[in-house]
Amino acid sequence: MIGFVGGGLAAAKLVEAYRESGGADEITIWSQDPHGPYHRPPLSKKVLRGEAQPEDGLVHSYDWYAENGIDLRLGETISSLDDVKAETIVIATGARPRELEGAIWLRTFDSALGLRKRAEASRTAVVIGGGFIGCEVTASLTHRGVEVTQIVRDTMVFAPLQAPPLSEALHELFREKGVDLRLGASDVPAGADLTVAGIGVVPNVELGADAGLEVRSGIVVDEYFETSKPGVYAIGDVAEFYDPLYRRHRRIEHWSNSAYHGTTLGKILAGEEARYDTVSTFFSEQFGQVFKAFGDTHGHDDTALDGDFRSEAAVLRFLRGGNVVAAVLKGQDEAAESALKDEIRAGAAAV
Ligand SMILES: Cc1cc2nc3c(=O)[nH]c(=O)nc-3n(C[C@H](O)[C@H](O)[C@H](O)COP(=O)(O)OP(=O)(O)OC[C@H]3O[C@@H](n4cnc5c(N)ncnc54)[C@H](O)[C@@H]3O)c2cc1C
Repeated sequence: MIGFVGGGLAAAKLVEAYRESGGADEITIWSQDPHGPYHRPPLSKKVLRGEAQPEDGLVHSYDWYAENGIDLRLGETISSLDDVKAETIVIATGARPRELEGAIWLRTFDSALGLRKRAEASRTAVVIGGGFIGCEVTASLTHRGVEVTQIVRDTMVFAPLQAPPLSEALHELFREKGVDLRLGASDVPAGADLTVAGIGVVPNVELGADAGLEVRSGIVVDEYFETSKPGVYAIGDVAEFYDPLYRRHRRIEHWSNSAYHGTTLGKILAGEEARYDTVSTFFSEQFGQVFKAFGDTHGHDDTALDGDFRSEAAVLRFLRGGNVVAAVLKGQDEAAESALKDEIRAGAAAV
């Protein structure tokens, strides 16, 4: 039997790939959330804008799990790995939002409905944070007609991406749309109808740590997603995995990463030859404009910009020793994106 702790995107993609690859073991998923595995990206975009319901984002219908012999136990929290009686254990516990007193957070299906309800009754809001949650919530609330003051501690939004041409274009866009964007700020104005914090997440590593697994920024796994204990795996937001492309461990809190981890481990557990072997990607959308990030900007020593992030299309390449190791992009077609990933793959290998 394969026992899963956590029923988010990573778990749902794993069981899908496992069954598709012929895996026949019994599967049980225990998940704290009362709702089945769902996609979180729409929660800060279409759901908050009122254009979709959270249940539109279920990864699979509830019937699908039953039809595929998967025992999905929702609303059940595992407090020790000893309680998971399975030969193979997958930890897919994700992450939880950092909390700030007086502010609400957005992570789950229910928190999205709660935030939307509050937004419907609000004229003004303060959003704290300049990462993807802070920026997307700001954009969606503004789209709804709420007057938003956004408080960003760094001097630019999406600061960890180290992509000033993108950040500066977003500052202009947000201000054009009427956002009171306060950069390098920490004072939170009082009196708003709604205060939302998007100040990062904490990976849910406790079960792994209590079981004696190696834990650093997340539960440490190799490129096959196996932890320091044979037969116990970790995937998704909670895993600090080995990325052979950059020859170092990384932890990523993004949709494509969790989906890829799940799909790849599903194949491995079904007996196929696979390992982490991809160029990591991330996307975010504000006011209908999507940008993406490929690869790892860590340690770059130069950048090269093609186009303008204020226009429809742009690519910012990150170089190390003259080799392209990462990129931030907007408005590229599939062929251009694929060529860029090839460039990054070759560049990172050459460093
Ligand atoms: C609002 C929002 C918008 C986002 N937008 C984007 C985006 O635009 N682009 C992007 O790349 N990424 C985005 N993300 C990030 C992306 O959704 C996450 O990286 C992804 O959901 C992580 O999947 P996961 O399966 O690893 O973890 P999770 O989705 O967090 O799932 C973990 C599950 O484990 C359960 N669990 C935890 N502990 C236990 C326990 N002890 N026992 C039982 N169950 C437990 C939790 O209840 C949860 O259901 C967004 C996230 C949010 C919240």
